[in-house]
Parts: sequence; structure tokens; C-alpha cells
Amino acid sequence: MKILPGIIFVLILSVLGCKDGKNNYAEKEPLSINKSETGKPTVSFTFDDGSTQDIAGFPFKEWNQMILTHLEEEDLKAIFFVTGQNKLDENGQFLLESWTKNGHKIANHTFTHPNFNAEKNNANVFEQELKATDTIISKFKNSIKLFRFPYLKEGQNKTKVDSLRNILAAYGYHNGYVTIDTSDWYINQRLINKIRKLGFENTAIEKFRDFYLQHILERANYYEKLSFEINKNHIHHVILLHHNLTSALFLGNLIERFKEEGWDVTDADKAYKDDIFKDIPRTEFAGESLIYSLAKQSGNYNNSLRYPAEDSRYEKDKMDKLGL
Ligand SMILES: [Zn+2]
Repeated sequence: MKILPGIIFVLILSVLGCKDGKNNYAEKEPLSINKSETGKPTVSFTFDDGSTQDIAGFPFKEWNQMILTHLEEEDLKAIFFVTGQNKLDENGQFLLESWTKNGHKIANHTFTHPNFNAEKNNANVFEQELKATDTIISKFKNSIKLFRFPYLKEGQNKTKVDSLRNILAAYGYHNGYVTIDTSDWYINQRLINKIRKLGFENTAIEKFRDFYLQHILERANYYEKLSFEINKNHIHHVILLHHNLTSALFLGNLIERFKEEGWDVTDADKAYKDDIFKDIPRTEFAGESLIYSLAKQSGNYNNSLRYPAEDSRYEKDKMDKLGL
């Protein structure tokens, strides 16, 4: 009973993939992949939340377009995990349409972004949140049944994790796992504060860019190393970034840097076909990035894994020292 919806889901994805004519080979592709064909790590891009705010002098439509242009220049398709709350008005609908028109996928990231490690955000809340955003995004032809937990928190105990997993499955959803987690949101927040204080012209944008690139690559290399130790293989990674100003300004540089450092880049829905995403960690190890939970589950990293895996606390002093 569980296998059939999975097969249908994959078939639907394959059919959608054929629509633009470019992917006519899609039906001949294997339904799953378990290693990068080139012997290199591969990264794909996902963007969370979906903001419709003007930021630090950049009108919303302009900075959103900057992200789309970076992806288009690299011929890359991303997945956009959206909160539903701000998608019902004109700007929200514009955002979903702009992503759809450009061939990117839209997935579920709750309605109001609750933390499911909190007691009050119980299974009922989870179901309502999932459904509310599903109703909004399922009207768009590029929506897919992947769900990403806010803050990557899947529940504070085993019982909760189990019940949330059951609800996900009942609605035909899979976990939109992240393999590379970062604190791009924190760099973004500090950049915006600086621009508000000094104005764009007087802000050392290139210093923020350099810090951002170094941070993302450092985290990517960390998760790749951990993943290679666990899986004995390069995998197709899914990186968590946000729909924000740092993505608008620096995504092009980031993709370039990944390539310079020997990474391949790919479309996010292709990356999710990697067998690693079938490797669901046992409930007691759920949460944070998939690689983090698998590392925790292995029992070999008890002294080296930090908690939380990624947070502003690890970046604050470094940024303070650089005057960022
Ligand atoms: Zn989020």
C-alpha cells in the first residue's frame, strides 16, 4: 500500500520533468540515484520561507528577480519551501507565480512557521499548518509534496516525531530534508542592519560577500566530509538557504565558488532522487540536517556534534571582529 503512491509520485515528477522538452530523456532515467556520476560532491539549492517585503531599499520584486536571474544564468532549478501566511495577498501570489513561471518547484513549509519542538505545537497544530499551506500551493502546477520543518525541528520526543511522520505520510508528503544547513539568515540579518544604519553606498558589501561565501563553503565542506565518512560516497546535497537579500546579492558568486572548489551543481528535484533521502533516521535521532541525524544515529560522533547544529552563536564573534 505504501509503495504504490510512491511510484505514482515519482511518475508524476517524471512527467512534469518532460514538459519543457529539454528533459525528454527523463523517463529513461533510473528512478533513483545513489552516487554522483562524476565522483564529486554535488549541491542543489532550496530557499525557505518566501518574503514579500521590500528590503533595505530593494523593492521586493527586484530582489526576488535577482535570485531568479542567478539561477537562470546557471540553468538551475530550485525548490522554494514556502510559508502560507503571507502568500494569499497580491504580492504572495506574485511570488508563487514568478517561481512557477521560471520552472522552479514550490513546496510546503507550514502556514505560520511554528517550532515543533515546543509542546504547544502538537500534532493537531501540525496537521492544520500542513493543510493550510497545501491548499494554497496545490493550485500551482509546480507544487510538490515535500515538507520542510521550520528550524529543522521535528518534535521534542519520540512519540511526537512518530505522530508528525504519520500525518505527513497520510497527506502524501515526504520530508524535504536538508543535508547542508547554514546560518545565511544571520548574515542576511546583520547585512540589513548595517545597510539601514550606514546606507547601501557606505556598507562594505564585499566584506559581507566574502564572509558569506566562506561560511557557506565551510559548512558545505563540513557536511560533505561527514556524509562521505558515513556513506562512503559523494551524495547529491540539498542546501538550505533563505529567500532573502544575501541570496539576491551573492547567489551567483556562491554557485561560482562551489564550482571552483570542485563541486557539481544540479537541480533540487534531481538531488532528492538520491538514495540518501530514503535513509530515514530513527525517530529518536530526528531533527537538524539529515546528515547530522545520520551521524548522531551512527554513534560515532557523540563528542564532535554540536547542538544546535547551526546557529548565530557560532558566527557572532567572527562577524563582530570583522566589523560586519
Ligand atoms: Zn523557515
